[in-house]
Amino acid sequence: MSSLSEQSAVTVLGLGPMGQALASAFLNAGVRTTVWNRTPGKDGALTARGAISAQSAEEAVAASELVVVCVVNYDASDAILRRDAVTEALQGRTVVNLTADTPDRARDTAAWAAEHGIRYLDGAIMTPTITIGTPNAVFIHSGPEALFQEHRPVLDALGGTHTHLGEDIGRAAAYDIALLDIFWTAMTGYAHALAVARAEGISAQELAPFAKGIGAVLSLSIEQDAKEVDSGRYSGEGNPITSAASSMAHIVHASEAHGIDAGVMRAAEGLARRVIGLGHGTDGFIRIVDILGRR
Ligand code: NDP
Repeated sequence: MSSLSEQSAVTVLGLGPMGQALASAFLNAGVRTTVWNRTPGKDGALTARGAISAQSAEEAVAASELVVVCVVNYDASDAILRRDAVTEALQGRTVVNLTADTPDRARDTAAWAAEHGIRYLDGAIMTPTITIGTPNAVFIHSGPEALFQEHRPVLDALGGTHTHLGEDIGRAAAYDIALLDIFWTAMTGYAHALAVARAEGISAQELAPFAKGIGAVLSLSIEQDAKEVDSGRYSGEGNPITSAASSMAHIVHASEAHGIDAGVMRAAEGLARRVIGLGHGTDGFIRIVDILGRR
């Protein structure tokens, strides 16, 4: 971790669960932390530990060279940052926007920031609030590398790993979208599996050790499939997509026999059958990436 100077200061805009976790980690690291939230009254625990409570967003922004924003989405961060008084106060300062949204929204905000003389970095947080300030936190960033390095010592106070992914300001949001895509589709599969298991008299806790094993298999597949997707050579050796489609059909039948919605699995099976229909039945399942999007 880089060393912090005694004058290190940060402003945190947004005190939802994540904003509070960020502010708390800054305080723990001894950074002078000013906080503001649209709805007052969420900073009690932080001010009790030394945070400075600002009465307005413009007052909060004026307190520090570095402003970290973490609110629900970019409509919310726009509503805060693009008010004249706040925009004016931000001139010459650096905004690190850790709010999650799309790459286009990040690019749009960066263009707005450049027009107004505001230095801008975009980022995303890939781990839950309990990891913040610990080695398990994962942050990704994009935008000007020099600006990232300049603020790295203060950002390091948040713990974990901070990876700069490139100068394209939308890159962190693009990674975020891709990674959350994995997370939420996997969680939907897990929820569906729990419903089927429950219908068969298996509790979630009974399934858990085996479910974790599937997580480990998924991890291995990610490494193997990444090479195939990037090379465009899909080896179905050991598990061709014809076999995968058959296993999916079993899941559809078993769940629908219990009256459980199998829509997500039906969609996955449909993609597999399309690949087979195109004559690629000996390829592996990940071949579906090519029918979802152009190479
Ligand atoms: P939320 O996503 O619920 O965001 C709540 C914050 O957004 C509050 O500060 C809220 O203010 C503010 N907000 C909402 N609408 C507006 C608005 N129109 N104008 C101003 N402020 C507004 O909670 P989190 O703190 O958990 O998440 C913040 C960000 O962090 C999100 O982008 C989320 O995806 C990301 N994140 C969160 C994780 C988590 O585990 N919680 C994990 C990884 C990323 P108010 O109190 O006034 O409503």
